[in-house]
Amino acid sequence: MNTMENNALATEVAQLRAIVDGSHMGSWMWNVQTGEVVFNERWAEMFGYTLEELQPVSYATWQKLCLPKDLAISEQALDDYFNGKANKYSTEARVQHKNGGIVWIRDTGLIATYTSEGKPEWMCGGHVDITEFKENRMALAESRERLQKIADNMQGTLYQFVKRPDGNVAFPYASSGIKLIYGVTPEQVKNDATVVFKAIHPDDLARVEQSIEQSYQTLEPWECEYRVIVENQVKWVYGHSTPEREADGTVLWNGLLIDQTERKLLEKRLAQTQSQLEAAQRVAHLGYWQADVNTGEMEWSETLFLILEQDPLRFKPTVHDFLGLVHASDRDKVRRGFEPGYPGHEFDFRVVLRNQEIRWLRQWGLIHQSKSDPHLIRGTLQDITERKELELMLLEQSTRDSLTGLYNRRYFMDFIEKRFSSNRAADQNIFSIISFDFDHFKRVNDNYGHLVGDEVLRVIGRIVFDTIRETEIAARVGGEEFMIYVPGASATEAATLAERLRQKAMKHEFLADQTKFTVTITCGVAERQVTERNFQELLGRADRALYKGKESGRNKVVIAEP
Ligand code: GH3
Ligand code: MG
Ligand code: MG
Repeated sequence: MNTMENNALATEVAQLRAIVDGSHMGSWMWNVQTGEVVFNERWAEMFGYTLEELQPVSYATWQKLCLPKDLAISEQALDDYFNGKANKYSTEARVQHKNGGIVWIRDTGLIATYTSEGKPEWMCGGHVDITEFKENRMALAESRERLQKIADNMQGTLYQFVKRPDGNVAFPYASSGIKLIYGVTPEQVKNDATVVFKAIHPDDLARVEQSIEQSYQTLEPWECEYRVIVENQVKWVYGHSTPEREADGTVLWNGLLIDQTERKLLEKRLAQTQSQLEAAQRVAHLGYWQADVNTGEMEWSETLFLILEQDPLRFKPTVHDFLGLVHASDRDKVRRGFEPGYPGHEFDFRVVLRNQEIRWLRQWGLIHQSKSDPHLIRGTLQDITERKELELMLLEQSTRDSLTGLYNRRYFMDFIEKRFSSNRAADQNIFSIISFDFDHFKRVNDNYGHLVGDEVLRVIGRIVFDTIRETEIAARVGGEEFMIYVPGASATEAATLAERLRQKAMKHEFLADQTKFTVTITCGVAERQVTERNFQELLGRADRALYKGKESGRNKVVIAEP
């Protein structure tokens, strides 16, 4: 190289250095043969040093600052360049900053001069700080990876959907979950999405298309719930996306589609359970209420409004109103149930409806007080009117004689027995018993038949019922044997009643097979004696008097010996 050439090169290098310095690049010159290096001030500054601090500088200065892993990569890049595999030296490397941090640089260089033997001599290069870029890129890669994971794991797909002015529809991007929704891969719908619309349930297709069209026109967010059929399975899909219009009129939606099948199923099951519960409560006539004991306000369930025949739209229930519906005789009992601290319980009470109809309710022991709302109490009410009426009827039946409607034997015996166990002093507890039996009743049956015999018993039973007072009790105690309890009556007084009955019975004309006939009865009357210890003694005396009457000609009243 001659002097002129060297001078020209020097000028060129100086110019280059000026550009490099102005560009804020770190620059270096390196004599590959001797290892001599020249750094500019920026080279050192980038790593937190002044050039002076690094003196004496050599290739070793670089080797020391660069992280070993990246130094190896850098030396590989140099080799590749020297061997002609690369047309320049270029690498990215991390360099230790003076303050302990790391600086990412991009380092590039070219051979400037060769030795006379043709070997690389001076190399010139420069590096720029790419830390920020690197960090951004890593952060981006990280968040991209994270998003990808979310997208891949969701029960659905994140997507971009476009509708172009020519009508073309496509999914430029869709996460892998689109397979789950439509049974297609992202690739299959990247340029043409028509296949997707074939998977939409025929009943929902028009609605989906219309919702897309609306969003396309108005740029309002798209939201739709619809069914798709993939591999013969119906799935519920929920979609939501936000549209934006591009310059050429194409609309692009960013959004997501989620498989809602399971949620839909749950919803359906829940709704079913709910309506079953309501139906069950209606069928069971079961209502419930909640009351605030501070304000007296109440909440009633729908069924309770039905039971109490109130209009849920107009009637705002309060404890006061509720008690107003309760039968006066039961009101105190029910009122106690609203008192704070009243323990759980179960009782029956009556309510009186508008038409004066009476309903029986059972209050179940669900009086509940939570610590957080001590003023709230709850109760469950069941309309048990039918059951109650049946109960009362059964109770009635168990005490009544079905043929005559008078009391039956069991009831009468229990009743008389109780008269004896009464605490009242015997002399304050006067009463008499009439016992009567039909005369020759077998003949009635024989002559007119058993049914006519029954009719006779019914009619005479009615006559007895009509004749006695409310305080007197009549019973059919055997086939054609009756007894009457006459409270406060002496034997003579009771005998007067018996006589009246005997005559009434005798006078009643029966008609059977166009034949008129009458019947007679024989009565035994016994007054309760203070010496008698049990009711059998009293009944025994009445029976003996009756027997006497039969023996002495029938159709008469006989008073028992005391
Ligand atoms: P006596 O005057 O001695 O009482 O004669 P009697 O025929 O009434 O004899 P008794 O009282 O011993 O017999 C009762 C008869 O009444 C026997 C039976 O055929 C008839 N009888 C009993 N219970 C019923 C009934 O529920 N219906 C009908 N139709 N007949 C009955
Ligand atoms: Mg008899
Ligand atoms: Mg008889």
